[in-house]
Amino acid sequence: MIETIIELKKADLTLGTAAAKVHVLKNIDLKVAKGEAVGIVGPSGSGKSTLLMVLAGLERIDTGEIHVNGNPLHQLSEDALAEFRGRNIGIVFQSFHLIANMTALENVALPLELANQSNAFDLARKELEAVGLGNRLDHYPGQLSGGEQQRVAIARALAPSPVLLIADEPTGNLDTETGRQIADLLFAKQAERSMTLVVVTHDPSLAARCTRQVRVHSGELDASDGARATAAEVQPA
Ligand code: ADP
Ligand code: MG
Repeated sequence: MIETIIELKKADLTLGTAAAKVHVLKNIDLKVAKGEAVGIVGPSGSGKSTLLMVLAGLERIDTGEIHVNGNPLHQLSEDALAEFRGRNIGIVFQSFHLIANMTALENVALPLELANQSNAFDLARKELEAVGLGNRLDHYPGQLSGGEQQRVAIARALAPSPVLLIADEPTGNLDTETGRQIADLLFAKQAERSMTLVVVTHDPSLAARCTRQVRVHSGELDASDGARATAAEVQPA
């Protein structure tokens, strides 16, 4: 049986104030099955990053509904949204977003410590070893290559065992070969942990590796892209 992990119904969002208002997401209907890897593609400025922020519970829709892993995000308080994110969501950004004056180990341990996980540093070390950085634990971001920094960011996103991993152009700042290695890592982790992956990308080879692609144009999804994947399209975990 296919379990739906993400469902948006007529989700609509306008950002900005007064003269600078932008209708960013228009009447979005989207279903994602648990375990899918969905590639979000579309021109710059079309609303891809905003859609990810909505999925992560970092941005609220104005009207419509959004359910993620059984949580009605459109109805949750700010505190409940923060708890939802901590339990369900891992996020990876194009520019890594590591804390410059913390080591790789401290960067990965931080969200675990904030969640009062007792063995935060042990877990963080294991996650870094699992992304091939066991020999970089005490390096600062500035002492790491772009690919290594993105591995740290992936370890940090995965450490709390999210059900949904969200990545916004995760290979956008990397050369082709490093980007391929990062994509390999993301898909390997997705399979290993039966996670759902939603990734915005301009990289056709990364997008092609997803279960399916969803195209965004001026805040709208292309017709039919939002539909739930058929059973045949969903790769077994
Ligand atoms: P993409 O990731 O596809 O490049 P974004 O989701 O970042 O697009 O942005 C979509 C549109 O919304 C753009 O026109 C952008 O300028 C606008 N936008 C994004 N955030 C805000 C904001 N906080 N206030 C006003 N407009 C915004
Ligand atoms: Mg973007």
